[in-house]
Amino acid sequence: MTVKDNLAAVREKIRQSAVRTGRSEKDVELILVTKNVSPAAILEAYAAGERCFGENRVQELIDKMEKLPRDIHWHFIGHLQTNKVKFLISGVTLIHSIDSVRLVRALAGKAAEGKTRLPVLVQVNTSGEQTKFGVSPEGLPDVLRAVSGEESLDLKGLMTIGPYSDNTSVVRDAFRNLASLRGEWKDKGFPGLSVLSMGMSHDFEIAVEEGANMVRIGTAVFGERKVNRAA
Ligand SMILES: *Cc1c(COP(=O)(O)O)cnc(C)c1O
Repeated sequence: MTVKDNLAAVREKIRQSAVRTGRSEKDVELILVTKNVSPAAILEAYAAGERCFGENRVQELIDKMEKLPRDIHWHFIGHLQTNKVKFLISGVTLIHSIDSVRLVRALAGKAAEGKTRLPVLVQVNTSGEQTKFGVSPEGLPDVLRAVSGEESLDLKGLMTIGPYSDNTSVVRDAFRNLASLRGEWKDKGFPGLSVLSMGMSHDFEIAVEEGANMVRIGTAVFGERKVNRAA
């Protein structure tokens, strides 16, 4: 299977999942996750018309931004350390992984030096798994307030990584949880919360059924990676 074939298959599954719940594939933005993927493979996806790509390491993102076409929209999806934020300000379309007030402050300080507001998502740990990054649902309001209080940041929505479980109802519950948190906090004073970034290669169909409007997919398009799993 080529990247192009895989892409077509993934896009068709997104379409079917969206249609099952009365939506359209146009409501779901596909972010192709390119960690450990060669520029050649990325360019195959680019040639097939894809323009949204995501990286979870700051250095890898910067390297690829320099090498690849300028009209690519780059998303940062990985865990972000405060000492790395300065590299991420220019040219990144969306940061998916804000998970602490401390990170908000660090990012806002750097973003304020630029001219445009930096679009961000707050990452929520919906599964309670210890190994996952993301703020707990209880801690979410504090982070939302912190982001909203920063003139240089633009709050766009929420992101989660689903639990690694074969039990689809556990996975579905996590996505449903994120969707309901989005609805709840949108009503409670954060109208900018529109993006729901959830769903990866093994669970994106469930995520789309539960309302995802952004999915982050690597393996299903580019094949298995040797290292660098989800942070
Ligand atoms: C790696 C990664 C993905 C994509 O995972 P696949 O299983 O390869 O589709 C999505 N989101 C995040 C945060 C990741 O780190």
